[in-house]
Amino acid sequence: MMEVEPMDLLRSNLSRVRIPEPTNRIFKHECCLSFDTPKSEGGLYIDMFTFLAFGKDCVGWNFEKTGNPVYLHVKKTKKLVPEDRPTKKPTRLAIGVEGGFDNNEPEYEETHSIVILPNYVSLPFPSVELPEKVRLAADAIVLAEGAERKEQVAAWTADKKTVSTYAMNLQQLDNGVVIPPSGWKCSKCDKTDNLWLNLTDGMILCGRRNWDGSGGNNHAVEHYNETGFPLAVKLGTITADLEAADVYSYPEDNSVLDPLLAQHLAFFGIDFSSLQKTEMTTAERELDHNTNFDWNRIQESGEEKEPIFGPGYTGLVNLGNSCYLAATMQVVFTTRSFCSRYYINQSLKKAFETAPADPTVDLNTQLTKLAHGLLSGKYSMPVYENDDNASVDPKTMTPKQGGIPPRMFKSVIAASHPEFSSMRQQFVSNLLLGCFRIFPSFSRSS
Ligand SMILES: [Zn+2]
Repeated sequence: MMEVEPMDLLRSNLSRVRIPEPTNRIFKHECCLSFDTPKSEGGLYIDMFTFLAFGKDCVGWNFEKTGNPVYLHVKKTKKLVPEDRPTKKPTRLAIGVEGGFDNNEPEYEETHSIVILPNYVSLPFPSVELPEKVRLAADAIVLAEGAERKEQVAAWTADKKTVSTYAMNLQQLDNGVVIPPSGWKCSKCDKTDNLWLNLTDGMILCGRRNWDGSGGNNHAVEHYNETGFPLAVKLGTITADLEAADVYSYPEDNSVLDPLLAQHLAFFGIDFSSLQKTEMTTAERELDHNTNFDWNRIQESGEEKEPIFGPGYTGLVNLGNSCYLAATMQVVFTTRSFCSRYYINQSLKKAFETAPADPTVDLNTQLTKLAHGLLSGKYSMPVYENDDNASVDPKTMTPKQGGIPPRMFKSVIAASHPEFSSMRQQFVSNLLLGCFRIFPSFSRSS
């Protein structure tokens, strides 16, 4: 057989590459059939036609099923920390800021390449040599907010934001203020991030100071105390998706919805459709805070327990008020009927072959994925990481359980049962009853 040049091979497959549209869901954080991520040993392969992601063990099945040969390979590798790095003494009571405590999360380096199946022919990315269509498509995938993250934030916010009582009759002062599309700064100090636009007078002021000393200088909240102007929107969170913008109501002391936000922004000359997201919303920060707890430490009423590893001992990562889901699924998958139906008698490959085009919305596939994730032991590996990112000697340290996030499973359940789409604490029995209803074979005893 003639050897084909990698670039010619890519050119001959250009019809199997798409440039994603803004409405496309792009998966880039987790394999749709396993719990592999870009941090896994084999990295993650994103199908450049369907924008579904696959781990190294599953990507071949996708090629067999769809014939899609072109993938953006994403690999995150832990950054090496020099061994003689001095341990800095914190000078501020803050985490992850200059002078504060080091973040526990190690730093990762993200690398990309274009991979063509079936022979895993690899081309470097970014590279000016690549065809323009491939460059545009890969750029868009890299820049996109992953569908996994979007859904998680939407669910976290779902039952929290209500329409502000101040929105519909908000008075706006005709004071000639025009807000430029970028280059904002607090009117009272030099802060250029964490800025809030008061929707009554168009004043741009910095946010609250956090308990740890980070954040702003309280200028926006002080302005409310002086004027009583109730609503402010966080600059950098306004995009074409207006509902996701972070609007805060001072008198209601909450993040709120402003149904007239487009009109309120236009009053100060802001064209929301052209703005880019540059800041995290309050909901995103809350969610990160709630999911970054070290659950190995706080479960069992704070007592440190020796973690156990191996098949059947895989933890579920909390997704923000999802303990009910974790507890239920852990119980469900100790039953013989579930283990045999979704693990022993159903391979992941089989589930995928019979799944619809989008396996992320298929209950059978996602139950099989969860079963294999929980029962195989593949993800029940000790994680050795200490607090200053240095490599540690496993013998001298208690390992942690990495665990798996039941995110896609939760989305499927949520789609079939709207009451699970929010992250309100649910009773385990509710979820079980829900499972029985949407999936009758749950209730069969063998
Ligand atoms: Zn300020």
